[in-house]
Amino acid sequence: MKRVVLLGPPGAGKGTQATGIAEKFNILHISTGDIFRANVKQGTPLGLKAKEYMDKGALVPDELTCDLVEDRIMQDDCKNGYLLDGFPRTVFQAEHFDKFLASKGQQLDDVIDIEVPDSVLIPRAAGRRVCKQCGKPYHVEFNPTKVEGVCDACGGEVYQRADDAEETVRNRLKVYAEQTAPLTGYYKNSGILKAVNGDQTMDKVFADICKALGE
Ligand code: ADP
Ligand code: ADP
Ligand code: ZN
Repeated sequence: MKRVVLLGPPGAGKGTQATGIAEKFNILHISTGDIFRANVKQGTPLGLKAKEYMDKGALVPDELTCDLVEDRIMQDDCKNGYLLDGFPRTVFQAEHFDKFLASKGQQLDDVIDIEVPDSVLIPRAAGRRVCKQCGKPYHVEFNPTKVEGVCDACGGEVYQRADDAEETVRNRLKVYAEQTAPLTGYYKNSGILKAVNGDQTMDKVFADICKALGE
């Protein structure tokens, strides 16, 4: 039973690491970015609202995002714990979420901060490709699909996210520095923050996260 948050700038490798970590610890992987993208694709009211912000590389409003996640983690498939990928992203979200958990007699166990310098993040985002169907991330150079344009895991179509255009990535990095980076201080104070060097091979990053989580 573990409740874990994966923290790190766009392109740090959160999505890449999340599947394996969730599998190893038998917890559910919840990506707010994937949930928003699925809603955009289906044209739901939530998707229409989120798209305005996502297209600019801005954050979706806090209240909306908190409601979504707090609803999601109360479902049965989260009873054994979960790995949050991309949430919280503001101090408001972190505080709101902590209060919500406390009201249920729960708390977070670990926050893993994947650290990667901006100079490495830009080419990672520029070459990122994502499966339309299952959300699995690839990279044209660092982690290509076996067959071009086709997801290894599910056979879905692999595409480039609109918000991975260089100018939007730069804005997302700015938003991260301003609004999300302060979370490291917040969780350091709680004593549950563990930093991992994300500028290593994917296997090495995975091993370091497992170690930080106590395995
Ligand atoms: P995030 O979810 O944090 O935004 P992703 O997991 O989608 O990041 O990774 C961003 C891009 O960088 C993807 O194209 C991915 O294949 C690639 N990537 C992830 N981890 C590494 C790594 N350790 N070395 C090289 N490329 C990586
Ligand atoms: P990345 O993996 O590159 O960090 P995500 O897939 O997590 O990007 O997020 C894509 C977009 O979805 C964000 O730029 C933002 O607009 C929106 N989003 C995702 N999670 C949150 C959140 N917790 N709060 C606000 N907006 C979010
Ligand atoms: Zn897929």
